[in-house]
Amino acid sequence: MIVRRSEIVGYWDDDGTIICTECAGDSWDDATVEQIITIKHLEKADSNDEDYYCDECKRKLPVSPEKEEKEEVKRRWWVNLGAWDTDSGDEETDKLSKAVGKRIESEIEGVEYSTGDSAGLVFKTWDRAEAEAVREKAMHIMKEVWPECGLPEESFDITAQPQCPKCDALAKFSARFCDNCGSALI
Ligand SMILES: [Zn+2]
Ligand SMILES: [Zn+2]
Repeated sequence: MIVRRSEIVGYWDDDGTIICTECAGDSWDDATVEQIITIKHLEKADSNDEDYYCDECKRKLPVSPEKEEKEEVKRRWWVNLGAWDTDSGDEETDKLSKAVGKRIESEIEGVEYSTGDSAGLVFKTWDRAEAEAVREKAMHIMKEVWPECGLPEESFDITAQPQCPKCDALAKFSARFCDNCGSALI
């Protein structure tokens, strides 16, 4: 008789106690046919108004596998605060622009200059609320120093950089899998 693994719900120990597949783990892999409790046994027991319980975890068979706790992907928020060291050719514009950048840098602690794809001032945090607050503050500074600059609200965008829940590596913004260990990042 071939018993499919998916039909096995537990095992009878020699002393008649029952152990569910969850409690048994793989220590019962070489169980004999007589020791195996299958779905069919349960159906038969059920028709006799009987239930089988695991003697170890006391749960009723079939014991479904504990859902693997899905680890949450942490996100590091980047508040992109723009590049203000412009060289537009217009003296007044460049002066105002630089003034905005200077004040953002001096008034918002932790602002750094990021090179790369979108070079400019950036603020990084694990706290979404803090990211929003920094964005507001930078917006406020911009409007105060250079009200005519005309940049819309959404100029300071917030992007989320995922961190792998398995190995803690920081991934690319758009990554769906960890470069380092291959874990899903969604
Ligand atoms: Zn059990
Ligand atoms: Zn990883």
